[in-house]
Amino acid sequence: MSISRPAATGKDCEVNIRTKGVPVIQVPFVDLKAQYAGIKPEIDAAIQRVVDGAGFILGEEVSNFEQALAATVGSRDAVGVSSGTGALLLALLAVGVKPGDEVITTAHTFIATAEAVSRIGARPVFVDIDPRTYNIDPNQVESAITERTKVILPVHLYGQPAELKPLRDIANRHRLVLIEDAAQAIAAEYDGQRCGSIGDLACFSFYPSKNLGAYGDAGAVTGNDETLLAKVRKLRDHGRISKYEHDELGFGQRIDAIQAAILGAKLPHLEAWTEARRSHARLYNEVLSGADVETPFESRNVRHVYHLYVIRTARRDALLQHLKEKGIDAGIHYPIPVHRQPVYLKLGYGEVSLPATEQAAGEILSLPMYPELRGEQIEYVAQAVSEGAH
Ligand SMILES: *Cc1c(COP(=O)(O)O)cnc(C)c1O
Repeated sequence: MSISRPAATGKDCEVNIRTKGVPVIQVPFVDLKAQYAGIKPEIDAAIQRVVDGAGFILGEEVSNFEQALAATVGSRDAVGVSSGTGALLLALLAVGVKPGDEVITTAHTFIATAEAVSRIGARPVFVDIDPRTYNIDPNQVESAITERTKVILPVHLYGQPAELKPLRDIANRHRLVLIEDAAQAIAAEYDGQRCGSIGDLACFSFYPSKNLGAYGDAGAVTGNDETLLAKVRKLRDHGRISKYEHDELGFGQRIDAIQAAILGAKLPHLEAWTEARRSHARLYNEVLSGADVETPFESRNVRHVYHLYVIRTARRDALLQHLKEKGIDAGIHYPIPVHRQPVYLKLGYGEVSLPATEQAAGEILSLPMYPELRGEQIEYVAQAVSEGAH
């Protein structure tokens, strides 16, 4: 019954009059069709260019996108890979993570963060979050370090950078590697510096609904250390050193040239899209100020890029149901912390206790957020939240 609207056209919202007589504006969680409608000629031309040239694997399309991405995140270089998960896997291998090593990270994230660690045979060691930012609490990191620790892997959750300065200091003091899971944080900044240029390596996802989304799976690793990036470059392409020569075991984890061309066509819009997200977040904050929910905390020294706009309330489940009745798609990121996932219980994490993570998982709610969202939709959502939150 939900109507899909051309949200970017600036036309009035379609109103669906229900039998109850309650007008319902449909507000989707994201609207990828609306974004495409706004940039169709550029995207179509990019795809056509690749098809006409028949250069589907690596080549100029990929290296042009890698350069543009590096310029966007302020890193020395970038390596396009097949997904954000692939980026994590290759980055961890490139810095030398081996079976039995420990990687300090967060359980309040998408499972891929920890999955990549576990897939290598290393062990994710989960540190609790700061309940205000939902990011790893740097004050609890040092006590989790053992002689097996190799990497600190913070996630810039929802688009808000983790506390990179204290994490960098801890990593330096203990000779650990710092890898950013920047899947949700393209164009985010910490102390004026872009995420993706601060850690030893950083991992991006271009999953379609991310702030910079491909039309399929894609990802990238960025950084400033040419040796590490060369390692990632080699691993993504079967350990290849020349056309027919391979000097280590790698993967088939290259980014598709078509995806690279699409992403390259989208990159010039990223700044405007990011500003639109930030402006929507400000409007949400304003119109929700009277509602009985906690709005997102934004640290002073960051540029939060609002991949997700996450509110918090103890009556989350009832509110979610109410929004659904009002035609509003909301989400939960994430309802089950990684250490509570069935697979991690099987891996022996049953005794792990992360109170702030576990409490957040029961109270968080992600409201619709995408650049093409309109003011009246935000006001409609806020009205529904106010009604449903008490
Ligand atoms: C999306 C995401 C990933 C995985 O990216 P894919 O491209 O889906 O493989 C990893 N970590 C975080 C925090 C993510 O949001």
